[in-house]
Amino acid sequence: MKEHYFQCVNCQKEFAPSMFTIRCDTCNDVLSIVYREVSALGPLLPVDIHEINSLGSGNTPVISLKTIADELGVAALVAKLEMLSVTGSFKDRGSTLLMTMAKMFGITEFVEDSSGNAGASLAAYAAAARIRGHIFSPSSASKGKLDQIKIFGAELHKTEGSRQASTEAAEAYVRERNLPYLSHSLNPYFSEGMKIVSYELIKQLDIPIHHVVLPVGNGSLCIGMFRGFNEIKSFNKQTIIPRFHVVQSRNVMPIVNYINGTKPSKIKKTVASGIAVAKPPRLMEIATVVENSNGSAVAVRDNSILNWQEKLANTEGIFCEPTSAAVFSGLESLLEQGTILKDENVLIPITGTGLKEPL
Ligand SMILES: [Zn+2]
Repeated sequence: MKEHYFQCVNCQKEFAPSMFTIRCDTCNDVLSIVYREVSALGPLLPVDIHEINSLGSGNTPVISLKTIADELGVAALVAKLEMLSVTGSFKDRGSTLLMTMAKMFGITEFVEDSSGNAGASLAAYAAAARIRGHIFSPSSASKGKLDQIKIFGAELHKTEGSRQASTEAAEAYVRERNLPYLSHSLNPYFSEGMKIVSYELIKQLDIPIHHVVLPVGNGSLCIGMFRGFNEIKSFNKQTIIPRFHVVQSRNVMPIVNYINGTKPSKIKKTVASGIAVAKPPRLMEIATVVENSNGSAVAVRDNSILNWQEKLANTEGIFCEPTSAAVFSGLESLLEQGTILKDENVLIPITGTGLKEPL
């Protein structure tokens, strides 16, 4: 294991790494990973990259979306197909590292809550690591995602009500059973795994990326990718760090409200279930990424999300889930506002497959 520690993102208090430490015991804020030694070329990870059980995920393809780029009038529109990860979503990036670390820490059983993709992903990597998972998900989650959690042998705990209710049920179970809470939004190893996406992009692309537009719920991809680009820049000063733009549904938009200084809006049901997070624990970190990258935050309508899901399929041959399609609606707004200019290059991670959710 590479020497590292956890650090509170707010008061900077340091903690020895443990699967049972997920919040600062002084200020209750979330934790991130800091390395004692920064000598290698990266990626900086708590373990050697070859020790990580990826199940074959990673190195996802990058393709150019020419028809949509022409239509929107943007110089280059590049998609990274994270939906082709082994369980069908970008969550595998975080699960590979989190479950590898859990095994190293000798964990045999854990609790997580998810709207579907993260739970399915952690269940798969837990199965491969012979670790027992308890996944709490809203009963309204798509059957495809719930079935996926079950087939990997995890115990599925369905909860009634909102996505937030599944988090509260998971937290209560953790207290009752004294199990580690390997929440993908709280555990710092999860977002740490996401930074590999940035390393791959630098290798794959021969054009500079000016903007990354991505769907944000708990923000692990946003936080992890930004960390990745900064790390790469620390090794190579020429690296351009893209501007990060956060996209949410207008029905669940706490991050957009916070960043734009608009008043909190009522939480409603949205087709973009993957970003329907009412209280993201890493909100401040996401806001910092947007601020430090000179990015922005935009909320989009559900009917526009569904239109883009269909359009991406019938013009580019990509069938993604609504959460991923939300980004195209966001891109359209950002171009209209002039936040993104027509001669700039844009990267969009296509975060999840459409095959798990019925139309
Ligand atoms: Zn603290």
